[in-house]
Amino acid sequence: MPELRCINCGRKHRPDERIYTCPACNGLLEVTIDLDKISVNKSDIENRKPGVWRYREFLPVKEGSKIITLEEGGTPLYRAKNLEKELGIKELYIKNEGANPSGSFKDRGMTVGVSKAIELGATSVGCASTGNTSASLAAYAGKAGIKCIVLLPAGKIAIGKLAQAVLHGALVVGIRGNFDIALKLIREAGEKLNIYLLNSINPWRLEGQKTQGYEILDQMSWEVPDRIIVPVGNCGNISSIWKGLKEFREYGFCDTLPIMTGIQAEGAAPVVHAFENRREDITPIGDPDTLATAIRIGAPVNAPKALTALKESKGLAKAVTDEEIISAQKLIARKEGIGVEPASASSIAGLIKLLDNGTIQRDERIVCITTGHALKDPEAIFNNYEKPVEIDPDINVLKDLLRS
Ligand SMILES: *Cc1c(COP(=O)(O)O)cnc(C)c1O
Ligand SMILES: [Zn+2]
Repeated sequence: MPELRCINCGRKHRPDERIYTCPACNGLLEVTIDLDKISVNKSDIENRKPGVWRYREFLPVKEGSKIITLEEGGTPLYRAKNLEKELGIKELYIKNEGANPSGSFKDRGMTVGVSKAIELGATSVGCASTGNTSASLAAYAGKAGIKCIVLLPAGKIAIGKLAQAVLHGALVVGIRGNFDIALKLIREAGEKLNIYLLNSINPWRLEGQKTQGYEILDQMSWEVPDRIIVPVGNCGNISSIWKGLKEFREYGFCDTLPIMTGIQAEGAAPVVHAFENRREDITPIGDPDTLATAIRIGAPVNAPKALTALKESKGLAKAVTDEEIISAQKLIARKEGIGVEPASASSIAGLIKLLDNGTIQRDERIVCITTGHALKDPEAIFNNYEKPVEIDPDINVLKDLLRS
């Protein structure tokens, strides 16, 4: 049976305890998977259909539990030949998490998190969100037939994500304050109002997200890339990918591990600051700001796990500007046909920056994760791109237009 282990004091906690942090020291919890009890080989896995549950032995759901799934995961890993040429590099892959059912990697977390919520007998789930967590949780709660409440920073949510939360029937509440403040409130609501929390502080949710690490290895025929570049906000994703990779190495599915590279937006880069100042913990930023709303987070709750991932993988964290993010978004959209929201494009922006300053070598095998779909945030496109034109239905006007 999987257990919960505190990454701070090492105490173990029962998996049926409804806790999110260590009751003894308030440290972050991690699910420990007993790899010795698993018996599955690569070809067993390869014979199953792609997706999160392809790796079911490694997921902490009890035998016979009801699984709430929308067939998430199994997203494309594109070889980005045009970008390789453009950037003068040898081998680049884009793992397009925008291809998940609700359009972001959060679905991988929610299939496990909401299944766990049902296992624990929850009838209401909730989260604070910069947008995608709420869109995803609303969809899975709908499928599970349980209530869902989402707290969002009022006026700071990309319109597509807000629309999804409403569409799937969540109780959507705008909070006058930023994400960090909304998270504080939902954590209090979790304790006092009997709502099961599915923010990335929830260790079960991260178990679903770790399958990105599994899947990259699986899709690369179990050859380990040199580097994985991940957009970083609340730090759950980079930590979970690293956990997945380490588990597969320990299980014996690979021998080496990639260098983890986390990218933040300059106006919301507490992890980068901690990394650059060689600090073990972050200093929260009171007023995070970036057009990449999905990573507009000043006090990332999973920062200790992310800093450990960077340290263990000899990785690094780097900040990019909003201009660099938009320019990278444009580049992958136009060279590779992949539409992503701004936060997602930060992995590509970071790649370009780290190539330019010589940190990344041109012959590395690199995987960039793009985390969410372009349609999540159409306003970011209209505000930063050429405006569409409007003309009378006249061939000569059209001809002039094409010439100009
Ligand atoms: C949630 C999210 C992120 C940030 O992931 P964390 O786990 O919070 O670091 C990045 N991009 C998109 C599109 C997201 O939805
Ligand atoms: Zn503890």
